[in-house]
Amino acid sequence: MNSRYEVVIGLEVHVQLTTKTKIFCGCSTRFGQAPNSQTCPVCLGLPGALPVLNHKVVDYAIKAGLATNCQIAPHSIFARKNYFYPDLPKGYQISQFELPICERGWLDIELEGSEKKRIGITRIHMEEDAGKLLHADGQSSSVDLNRACTPLLEVVSEPDMRTADEAIAYLKQLHQIVVYLGICDGNLEEGSFRCDANVSIRPWGQKELGTRAELKNLNSFRFIKQAIEYEVERQAELLDDGGKVVQETRLFDADKGVSRSMRGKEEAHDYRYFPDPDLLPLKVSEDWIDQVRSTLPELPQAKLQRYQQEFGLPAYDAGVLSAEKPVAEYFETLVALHDQPKICSNWVMSEVLGALKDKGIDIVDCPVTPAMLAGILKRIADSTISGKIAKQVFDGIWSTGKSADQIIEEQGLKQVTDTGAIEAIVNEVIAANPGQFEELKGGKDKLMGFFVGQVMKASKGKANPEMVNQLLKKKLSA
Ligand code: ADP
Ligand code: MG
Ligand code: ZN
Repeated sequence: MNSRYEVVIGLEVHVQLTTKTKIFCGCSTRFGQAPNSQTCPVCLGLPGALPVLNHKVVDYAIKAGLATNCQIAPHSIFARKNYFYPDLPKGYQISQFELPICERGWLDIELEGSEKKRIGITRIHMEEDAGKLLHADGQSSSVDLNRACTPLLEVVSEPDMRTADEAIAYLKQLHQIVVYLGICDGNLEEGSFRCDANVSIRPWGQKELGTRAELKNLNSFRFIKQAIEYEVERQAELLDDGGKVVQETRLFDADKGVSRSMRGKEEAHDYRYFPDPDLLPLKVSEDWIDQVRSTLPELPQAKLQRYQQEFGLPAYDAGVLSAEKPVAEYFETLVALHDQPKICSNWVMSEVLGALKDKGIDIVDCPVTPAMLAGILKRIADSTISGKIAKQVFDGIWSTGKSADQIIEEQGLKQVTDTGAIEAIVNEVIAANPGQFEELKGGKDKLMGFFVGQVMKASKGKANPEMVNQLLKKKLSA
């Protein structure tokens, strides 16, 4: 990235909540239903209809606040943000302005090869979403108000990030948290987790922040990074040419990799915020907060630490296994059944995740359950099968649903530990390769691997490799 200027980034993230009903009415939030089929006088903005707050939304906001180290306000207020747009039938959006529900939080991010860095979270507030305009035929526009009044959290960061990579690290962590909490499905493409990036630059050493542009329409982590990097270059060139950055909202075009100005930046006063007289100030008691706190799951960052400390796993393994809750649950169930964390980790990361990816299956639907996998690992540990044969057993379980022991039995995969049987094969292999055996005897140690390999092959992988080694050595000294 550009080195002539210091880059400053602050992010606003809209998190769409997974409550069953909308924030101020009882309509369903289900996605993909017939247009306007999930509406009522409240979310249609009909005169006289009154909003009633969905307390589940408050639970979710408190969850998000606690998980991001925020203070939860005992007293917060809903405000009207006034603007006109056809997808907003009331002519205002109910949001929070002064006195949001959560304030002064933070997340610690860690980039490879650098120190931990704390990113401040200014506030998290609750608000309703707008509807959707459909411009199908190019002649007219239609409005679908199913999304109107669905609940959002807006998470606003401090301008603490200095590179696109830091911004992505922060976003990924926030994303992981809301998905772990089960309050958001996390789908960037469908707009369940939407990010606006505020970007400015300033000469190194300057205290005041530069003028920022706000980037919108960023629906993948890759685009967010691209858009920030493009914006930094654009601003740097402007300043280098003696120009000025104007405060504006810019729309990123992912196909072309450029952004263009959408509109001048509106200010808070343009929205004529005022407390919504239809909704009482929200009181959140200590009890309410404690009750929500008691439902918090162990978060990914805590798991990441614990997997390294408690299980002695490398940071890489711990990162992969803790990134998604269902993967973490699979791994933890497995370790509880088979107390060899690193072996469990290897199997989950390579065999299980690999096969799931190949077949496009979710881990919750994995045909090899942790108990079945533990059955395989047990048979490796007691030398019934070799690690190599174990992969065959894994595939057998995957396609038949039978247990490890059943597959081993049916397919005759037991490791051969009968000395006589292995010796017979060793003799055959020596007889078939007399020249090489003489060379091995004469000191060409490299050939040991060749002989072990041949014996393993002849036994279809079932001979115990250690015994093969021992027997070969015996033959050499004979
Ligand atoms: P709004 O965009 O709604 O007017 P704010 O003034 O609260 O709201 O700022 C929104 C975001 O912009 C915050 O994440 C904040 O950290 C970030 N921000 C504010 N000023 C700058 C700046 N000069 N450069 C980069 N980010 C900034
Ligand atoms: Mg903004
Ligand atoms: Zn409704």
